[in-house]
Amino acid sequence: MSSQKIGIVGSGLIGRAWAMLFAAAGYRVQLYDILESQLSLALQELDKDLHGLEEKGSLRGSLRASEQFALIEVTTRLEELTRQAVHIQECVPEVLQLKRSLYTQLDELLEEQTVVASSTSTFMPSLYSEGLKRRQQMLVAHPLNPPYFIPLVEIVPAPWTSPQSVERTHNLMLTIGQRPVTLKKEIQGFATNRIQYAILNEVWRLVGSGILSVADVDRVLSQGLGLRYALLGSLETAHLNAPGGVADYFQRFGGEISAVSATYGETPNTKEDRETLEEIARQCEQLVPLESLEERRVTRDEFLTQLAKLKKLF
Ligand code: NAD
Repeated sequence: MSSQKIGIVGSGLIGRAWAMLFAAAGYRVQLYDILESQLSLALQELDKDLHGLEEKGSLRGSLRASEQFALIEVTTRLEELTRQAVHIQECVPEVLQLKRSLYTQLDELLEEQTVVASSTSTFMPSLYSEGLKRRQQMLVAHPLNPPYFIPLVEIVPAPWTSPQSVERTHNLMLTIGQRPVTLKKEIQGFATNRIQYAILNEVWRLVGSGILSVADVDRVLSQGLGLRYALLGSLETAHLNAPGGVADYFQRFGGEISAVSATYGETPNTKEDRETLEEIARQCEQLVPLESLEERRVTRDEFLTQLAKLKKLF
């Protein structure tokens, strides 16, 4: 149990999730936002969510919900947030100019011992930390939504991030029960989105060419590949799928993999191809109407909780 202080910038969806993860591990958490109204709302939501999880038996950590909630406080002063923080998790909206101006402000206030991690899903850390005095203390720690139930965190250093900042963030994520993966250097899309986009491109092609419906293409993952991938990665899956392990797998199937891969064709333009987009949206909304999205998210979170218990993550 730690009494160290964690600062969180931005009290929206992801900021609140981080607050719960750190409080569950006993850290003191201070949330900062530019909107005071947003902070009051965040506190109400946190109180409700922590008690809701406790009632369902899904609360993380050994402290009660009320004890975890008592560890969380708020501020609208950035200079207060940075004071004596060991780690700051930045969770402001995904707008590069906004992140840049925030990091420029933080650069003036950061103390020696503080690492600042961005939750960004898309921006490489060099894009917002270049030229700053404290850039060695800045990196990305990208969670997956919902972070409370999905433990992966991608840690991505800029070329100038110090190895100590990387190591400390990696260890901190382990301490709070997340499962970090540290990239050796920054790359666009990090690892998760590179893999996720490869899948999205292919399902787009399969639906766009009329080979599969949205329901069926998603079933390939949810009732097939995804069941394996909930347990094993794609390389260990391959390793188990040939008598002589992964080397044998690629000897047997490498030719077929190359032959199929050569038929993928162009990378789809998922922004401009309106026809396929409208068809995908129409079918998705038949499966889950827009007004039922929230209900479906709740079901997803309940399922992920059970899955996490099965994987004995916490
Ligand atoms: P959000 O819109 O829910 O919350 C953003 C919060 O930041 C709001 O409370 C807003 O008032 C506050 N804010 C705006 N400008 C600010 C400033 N200058 N200083 C302090 N606070 C400010 O956004 P979110 O979904 O929580 O996303 C936050 C970050 O997390 C983004 O970088 C996003 O890419 C990343 N992320 C999001 C998801 C997701 O699924 N939502 C998943 C992984 C990572």
